Amino acid sequence: MPSNSSENSPLILKLAVPSPLRRLFDYLPPVALAHHEPGFWKPGMRLQVPFGRRQAVAMLVETSTSSEVPKAQLKHATGLLDETPLFPGPLLQTLKWAAAYYQHPPGEAFSAALPAKLRQGSSTRPELESVWEACDTEAENSASLLGRAPRQRALLERLQQFGPLSRQECLAAGFSDAALKGLAARGLIRSRPRAPALPATQVDRATLERQPGHAPNPEQQAAINTISRSLDQFQCYLLDGITGSGKTEVYMQVIARVLEQGRQALVLVPEIGLTPQSVGLFRDRFQCNIVVLHSGLGDAERLAGWLQARDGTAAIVIGTRSAVFTPLAKPGLIVIDEEHDGSFKQQDGFRYSARDLAIFRAREENISIVLGSATPALESLQNAREGRYRHLTLPHRAGTADKAPISLLDIAKAATRDGFSDILLGQIEHHLGQGNQVLVFINRRGFAPSLVCQDCGYVFECRRCDAQLTVHKSPPGLRCHHCESRHGLPGECNFCGSTQLLTRGVGTEKSEQFLQERFPHIPVLRIDSDSTRRKNALSSRLVQVQSGAPCILVGTQMLAKGHHFPGVTLVAVLDADSGLFSADFRGQEHMLQLLFQVAGRAGRAQNPGQVTIQTRHVTHASLQSLVANDYHSIADLLLQERRETSMPPFCHLALFRAESTDQRLSLSLLEQTRSLCTQACQSLKLGDVEIHHPLPAPMERRAGKFRTQMLVKASSRGAMQTLLARVCPQVETLKSARKVRWSIDVDPVDLT
Ligand code: ADP
Ligand code: ZN
Ligand code: ZN
Repeated sequence: MPSNSSENSPLILKLAVPSPLRRLFDYLPPVALAHHEPGFWKPGMRLQVPFGRRQAVAMLVETSTSSEVPKAQLKHATGLLDETPLFPGPLLQTLKWAAAYYQHPPGEAFSAALPAKLRQGSSTRPELESVWEACDTEAENSASLLGRAPRQRALLERLQQFGPLSRQECLAAGFSDAALKGLAARGLIRSRPRAPALPATQVDRATLERQPGHAPNPEQQAAINTISRSLDQFQCYLLDGITGSGKTEVYMQVIARVLEQGRQALVLVPEIGLTPQSVGLFRDRFQCNIVVLHSGLGDAERLAGWLQARDGTAAIVIGTRSAVFTPLAKPGLIVIDEEHDGSFKQQDGFRYSARDLAIFRAREENISIVLGSATPALESLQNAREGRYRHLTLPHRAGTADKAPISLLDIAKAATRDGFSDILLGQIEHHLGQGNQVLVFINRRGFAPSLVCQDCGYVFECRRCDAQLTVHKSPPGLRCHHCESRHGLPGECNFCGSTQLLTRGVGTEKSEQFLQERFPHIPVLRIDSDSTRRKNALSSRLVQVQSGAPCILVGTQMLAKGHHFPGVTLVAVLDADSGLFSADFRGQEHMLQLLFQVAGRAGRAQNPGQVTIQTRHVTHASLQSLVANDYHSIADLLLQERRETSMPPFCHLALFRAESTDQRLSLSLLEQTRSLCTQACQSLKLGDVEIHHPLPAPMERRAGKFRTQMLVKASSRGAMQTLLARVCPQVETLKSARKVRWSIDVDPVDLT
């Protein structure tokens, strides 16, 4: 029996230790700190602990006076790493909720939320290192000074857009000491200690806005007023505004009020939406410390930004998915731009949705959150309709630019050359002739999606995946886009030995080559993940586009988001059909969102624009909705379909996945999982839960592994949670779970 005496019932620290086990681990305080009162121990502190044969960095989640482990077997933690908790209470609550909701081992969930350095046990007080920052210089000045020094120019741009960097960070980003020296000698950059510039709480109201924003139109004003009225309480807004309607202006005006109150704003953007251009908008507008967090940062850079957010010296934090975990000293507002974007959902490991987590967090922090999109996720629309979110709409373009008319070009019977019909080529020529720019959208990178033998019809496939190999031109070869394997270009057919091999279909590289031959005097800029892999390759291309001279942009969805291309008057979609008949239940929704976004790139400045979409299915309802520029009526149709087939948002899904080189093993693990689910439903009396049979995944083999999945459907979130909380720890202990890689995905986005 536990007694009240502190000697008999020692304080137990319940810690999240990084490990695949879905539970907390009990430890005693470090011997040297055993004398502290229980109140000394605060959730969110890190401790060093012995774990198996290694030392691990763990986080304190709660304290207790009892443990299921006999006292004699409890180990002492080795050391305390933080004097104050790393996460403030509301964020800690959010993380605890997320680990439980997504059925992820708490140790790994907490770990995923930390910058790498803190995960490894670094102190939160790094020595002050010195950093290089850009001096305020007239753009023309620096341009003329740097005429023949592209590396220096690229480095300067990086410092201007993303803020100061240490020498180490510059070197890590691929720049040289020579580039730093050159810029310093020209007086374009200077060195200073890495110290927070201006605490958020001291944002100077009078000089906060470097330049005033637009005078809001009545719809923007209404949205700004409504959101501003609820800054001191939780409210989730869906800011549903067509592309070019000025959502950014709404965010900025509300953020200005938040900053004036001495509070901070967290802005989450999609991975490819976080461009120097979009960050530049905020830097141009606000004179305050803006921290940018994205996956390209070095560990030191990321930690520095994280600390500035936590101590309140960063007024605005802009980041991609994982920035949702950034602690804020004085949170005032969360904005999720392009809330429908797939990159907010983590697809492996800790499979959280940054959007849903941010909403939970806003509630815990008692602040408001704005979800913005021109094409809201069906889930969000439904939430707005049911009154859980407040629906704010911006149905018109802001400013003077008119909406670009969208037309479909029927290529069912037309001849095309490398994917381009004559009519489309004529339009491209016309727009270039007017001195304008053209954007060509193709959702496939590489030269061609397949290589085919002309004699026997053999198609080259990946040996490790159920997928065709993509032909690439630079560097030449065949590549698998699923396992990243690379092969040389074959000289002959694997099957019949014929040398008559032909590429089939069109990728960005082929279009680039075709357009360059067709328009030899016009620069053709390809923008996809291959062409922009090198640091600064994207920004240097964007600079060229901003110059306004005629050019053709060819690219994938990297082009679709966040960019403002004032010189583009024609947007062409080479082939809209690939997404129309997708097997995934979200396929159509995603394709539509993408096409609406791409179409929104046209005519965003004074020049009226035009959007042309080549298709073989002109009568398809999704494409017709594009022509009518009416996302909402097609969203209604899709929602109706979801209701009839009882799919999200009208039910809740979870997907168990298993993969192994031996298909029987993964199938058998999921069969066992299925019986555990059935038993749990009976013993917990859960009605309205459907447990599907395990099936091979749509792409059955990837990287040599056989992939199997099992879908669980529930009509209520509560039932799903009760079921998973019972079953997941059971699956963990199954013998076959050790031989197979398995995972659980709650609210999966991708069922392939
Ligand atoms: P969205 O994010 O909704 O696609 P943006 O915020 O990019 O739209 O705005 C589109 C363009 O309209 C931008 O160039 C922006 O500067 C301009 N703009 C926004 N609000 C106004 C306004 N009230 N008056 C004039 N121009 C505006
Ligand atoms: Zn052949
Ligand atoms: Zn492969």
